[in-house]
Amino acid sequence: MTTARTVLITGGNRGIGYSIAEEFIVAGHRVAVTARSGSGPEGALTVRADVTDTASVDAAFSEVERELGPVEVLVSNAGITADTLIMRMADDDFDRVVDTNLGGSFRVVKRASKGMLKARFGRIVLISSVVGLYGSPGQVNYASSKAGLVGMARSITRELGARGITANVVAPGFIETDMTDALPEEQRAEYLKSIPAGRYATASEVAKVVTWLAGDDAGYISGAVIPVDGGLGMGH
Ligand code: NDP
Repeated sequence: MTTARTVLITGGNRGIGYSIAEEFIVAGHRVAVTARSGSGPEGALTVRADVTDTASVDAAFSEVERELGPVEVLVSNAGITADTLIMRMADDDFDRVVDTNLGGSFRVVKRASKGMLKARFGRIVLISSVVGLYGSPGQVNYASSKAGLVGMARSITRELGARGITANVVAPGFIETDMTDALPEEQRAEYLKSIPAGRYATASEVAKVVTWLAGDDAGYISGAVIPVDGGLGMGH
């Protein structure tokens, strides 16, 4: 049994974030999720936050701190796509994807780092994607935002690594969620052919890696990119 921690997951009302929250609850942690709508799984505290808004992030952290104590484990999971070929990609399609996926992670990590530094303990997990390092046509905005998370985790590791804080990236491949349900059928079939495992993953297969990274056994892993992609990215 790993030490019980206060955990905050962004975007925990559905998909991978919801599953990560469930996994931490089962493992006996104090769990909060942010949601713009809906709520996290039973047993999680749900707080409202839009990760593109610094004041909203600050208010959400303050509520979690009041209810559950300082955030010791942060999982930056909230993310969006706005896929289209670069020739057709509007500036706004680029900006809002980067502002949510990369900027949102910056906002929550910055807010969490204060308490982690004080506690001289912290676990930061950034949910990236196989396409961050693999590339993907039609996802220049999304892949850029997800690649940026690698530089973020590694810089945090260099800045805060000596204070008991780790920062890692989990890079899922194709996971059965609303995000992949939205893909056209031909594209889904095409992707499937390129995955050595020959199948998509479940959200819980990602969640188990995240909880392990946040646990006592993973204290010496930092700045790493952990793929959960059935071999698609070949370890990057
Ligand atoms: P979903 O689309 O199912 O869920 C996305 C989550 O992010 C929702 O909770 C959503 O909240 C939240 N969110 C989006 N924008 C904001 C915002 N501005 N502020 C706060 N919350 C926000 O996605 P998945 O579960 O599939 O993906 C989760 C993460 O995993 C993402 O970062 C994604 O890029 C990554 N990923 C997913 C893969 C997949 O195959 N599904 C593969 C690789 C990576 P709301 O419900 O309010 O919209």
